[in-house]
Amino acid sequence: PVPVLAIDGPSASGKGTVAARVAQALGWHYLDSGSLYRLVALAALRAGVALEEEGRLAALAAALPASFEDGRVLLDGADVTDDIRSEACSAGASKVAALPAVRAALLDRQRDYRAAPGLVAEGRDMGSVVFPDAALKVFLTATAEARAERRYKQLMAKGMAANMQSLLKDLHERDARDAARPVAPLKKLPDAVLLDTTNLDVEQAVSFVLERVPV
Ligand code: C5P
Repeated sequence: PVPVLAIDGPSASGKGTVAARVAQALGWHYLDSGSLYRLVALAALRAGVALEEEGRLAALAAALPASFEDGRVLLDGADVTDDIRSEACSAGASKVAALPAVRAALLDRQRDYRAAPGLVAEGRDMGSVVFPDAALKVFLTATAEARAERRYKQLMAKGMAANMQSLLKDLHERDARDAARPVAPLKKLPDAVLLDTTNLDVEQAVSFVLERVPV
């Protein structure tokens, strides 16, 4: 089978950056599964569908007119790369992600990304649910403080307003929701390698993963 590298971890752990760089280094495909949940939240907010209406949300997820081009995320052909990163979509994504029917509706779409020569897939349940046969599973994390600080710097660099206290509160809320949900809760699997990036830079984290890819 086509090899998969599964990178799971909490919000703002840096796994997106690391996963994208590892995929680039290997010449493998890349799946940012979180963007799918963010897109469902955005589509729901725009269509006026409440974030508790599981059936309608699952229907939205199943028919999501989403595509990815050169690092841009498109919904219905329009560039929504920045829109899906808003606080409303971040919070909304973690709400719709707690609904089993929504997760089920996105399963095949995620598995379709598995193509030669390999796939680097990043999210919360890549190693547990979507690609349980992954060749390498990494649980990438960092302390909540380090993660809030990184998010803070990203926002400042974009010239956006940011507040450390509210970022930290937000991270704790999303982490709690992601870990407490009955379906695909976020946790380190016994067969996953732990990568704590609190005191590592991106280069060091990328090297750590590349050294362990069984190819
Ligand atoms: O990774 P990111 O922060 O973009 O994910 C947004 C939200 O989508 C997360 O808070 C999580 O609730 C959900 N998610 C998930 N399973 C994944 C990826 C993301 O439940 N594989």
